[in-house]
Amino acid sequence: MDFSPSDRVVAMRELARDFCAREVEPVERTLMAQGWKDLEARMAPVRERAKGTGLFAPHVQAAEGGAGLTLLEQAQLSEVLGMHPLGHYAFNFAAPDVGNMELLHAHGTDEQKARWLGPLVRGEIRSTFLMTEPEHAGSNPVWMSTTAERRGDGWVLRGHKWFATAADGASVAVVMAVTDPSASNHYARASMFLVPTDTEGFELIRNVSVMGHAGGGWLSHGELMLHGVRVPADAVLGPVGGGFKLAQSRLGPGRIHHVSRWIGVCRRALDLMCRHAAERELAPGRPLAAQQTVQAWIAESRAEIEAARLMVLQAAWTIDRQGESREDVSLIKFHVAGVLQRVLDRAVQVHGALGMTDDTPLAFWYRHERAARIYDGPDEVHKRVVARSMLKAYGVDLRGTGG
Ligand SMILES: Cc1cc2nc3c(=O)[nH]c(=O)nc-3n(C[C@H](O)[C@H](O)[C@H](O)COP(=O)(O)OP(=O)(O)OC[C@H]3O[C@@H](n4cnc5c(N)ncnc54)[C@H](O)[C@@H]3O)c2cc1C
Repeated sequence: MDFSPSDRVVAMRELARDFCAREVEPVERTLMAQGWKDLEARMAPVRERAKGTGLFAPHVQAAEGGAGLTLLEQAQLSEVLGMHPLGHYAFNFAAPDVGNMELLHAHGTDEQKARWLGPLVRGEIRSTFLMTEPEHAGSNPVWMSTTAERRGDGWVLRGHKWFATAADGASVAVVMAVTDPSASNHYARASMFLVPTDTEGFELIRNVSVMGHAGGGWLSHGELMLHGVRVPADAVLGPVGGGFKLAQSRLGPGRIHHVSRWIGVCRRALDLMCRHAAERELAPGRPLAAQQTVQAWIAESRAEIEAARLMVLQAAWTIDRQGESREDVSLIKFHVAGVLQRVLDRAVQVHGALGMTDDTPLAFWYRHERAARIYDGPDEVHKRVVARSMLKAYGVDLRGTGG
């Protein structure tokens, strides 16, 4: 396996690094000082200029207006963009739009693509993904109460959802709803719907306050009610009863996107850690970097990041070749989330009180990325997937045991 970036990716990474330093970082500094207000308005001109780089929506096929990168190339680019809190957003390469664009690309009809995919790729609208419900364990995705009932030639949706990232200001919601509650195969009970958010009965109740920040726009997590929302028959995305299959196909690459972004976060945190350790003096002529504890944190972080990075690139490479690799995806999801949190914690500690401020991006990430061990499946669920798959080779079948 050779994970060295191709000439094309080297050029893209260079371009992205330069663009983020020139265009994104100054806006981030202003937003951090102001509590991330007006993010979308301030980033709109930056995103317009990002369109001119040829790297806007890089995951989308070239024929549909993107750069057509493989998953491995996306991961290699993400490491650079992830060094900035708004790097992915600047290039229209951020969740939840990335996953929703991929869903539309793979499963949308021509009409659905023209109505939603085109504007999403061009960055004209935003989308959200509604699966999790407050009343049910999100770790068990087949358990949900939101229903879609057939009425005439359309559907009526009823339900309660929450933690819909970027729901505030989104134009379209991808909604998971039960269409056949009595299907013997639990995985065939739900379907996915494309719901315009201005449809009557679609209500954003609130932006859930997360770690003390309710946020807004792209940085929001919505709680929503669907009060008898009527949609036409052609609002179904993919086949009726195919919702879980589609969700699974969305989450595989989606997790690669998150973990490769986290590698970028780790690299920036390590860079800031080293800089601060080198510059800060505990007494005249006694740099913080001289402390062995700090040196150990730097070395441990470097080792953990390098190993995690190779695991991520290998998983992306495997998916490019064979289409899916559930075990690899689960392995990197929990492992890299742990590395991310250890590296961020060390970087914050090295910065002392400065690490608590919003003068560096560390506090934002520390707050924001605690959720990395929960969203897209908690650690425990991913560890279970890996262990069960490995134990099969030892003749252990845990299906139906609750283990
Ligand atoms: C920042 C953020 C963004 C999100 N964005 C979205 C979004 O855009 N759209 C969306 O639909 N959802 C979203 N979610 C929801 C997310 O997918 C769920 O939070 C996640 O699936 C876990 O579900 P839960 O919160 O209901 O926890 P539960 O399922 O109630 O689990 C609680 C805890 O139980 C433990 N646990 C669960 N299962 C097991 C097990 N098998 N073995 C051992 N322990 C276990 C874990 O420690 C887990 O943290 C988001 C969540 C966060 C925090």
